[in-house]
Amino acid sequence: MTIAILALQGAFAEHAAMLDRLGVNHFEIRQLSDLGRPFDGLILPGGESTVIGRLLHELKLYEPLKDRIRAGLPVFGTCAGLILLAGEVRGGAMHFGTMDICARRNAYGRQLGSFRTEADFRGIGDVPMTFIRAPYIESVSGDAEILAQTGGHIVAARQGNQLVTAFHPELDRDTRIHSYFIKLAAEHASAPQS
Ligand code: GLN
Repeated sequence: MTIAILALQGAFAEHAAMLDRLGVNHFEIRQLSDLGRPFDGLILPGGESTVIGRLLHELKLYEPLKDRIRAGLPVFGTCAGLILLAGEVRGGAMHFGTMDICARRNAYGRQLGSFRTEADFRGIGDVPMTFIRAPYIESVSGDAEILAQTGGHIVAARQGNQLVTAFHPELDRDTRIHSYFIKLAAEHASAPQS
């Protein structure tokens, strides 16, 4: 099991530390040639979705990654990563657009948008949630399902092999959401390929 972490900008090192804690192999994607290495899942970290989106195009990573996500590559987007996957983005541009969710960027305001809370995550229980200038999910449609809500807003969702959180589980000690993603990636890796 190997997980690739998109490392163009933002909180990628924290995801790497989390995977180390879980004993999961990982490497960073910084340029097109990195896609030549095999991997079973991809993490899109938090950061600035505008910057990450621009770099994806400049580095010619956008099309190949989008194709792989569309083909079923397990992907976990946190915060800006959620925005990258959203099919509709309020207050910003759409990027991969592979998930049937509508995300509102900087939904809690730019200055006062950072806070911590705890709420139920479907199938896991109460988890800590750290929000940093976070988006929330305004609505889900199609096959997308809600996994967590807090303060009346949707903050985690899944659609097939795509998992997103508006908060940053990589900044907390709780490893269960990353484990959830690793399990999803392992199931996909062991499924017979058609
Ligand atoms: N506000 C950022 C954006 O719009 C997301 C913040 C984050 O990833 N912590 O991309």
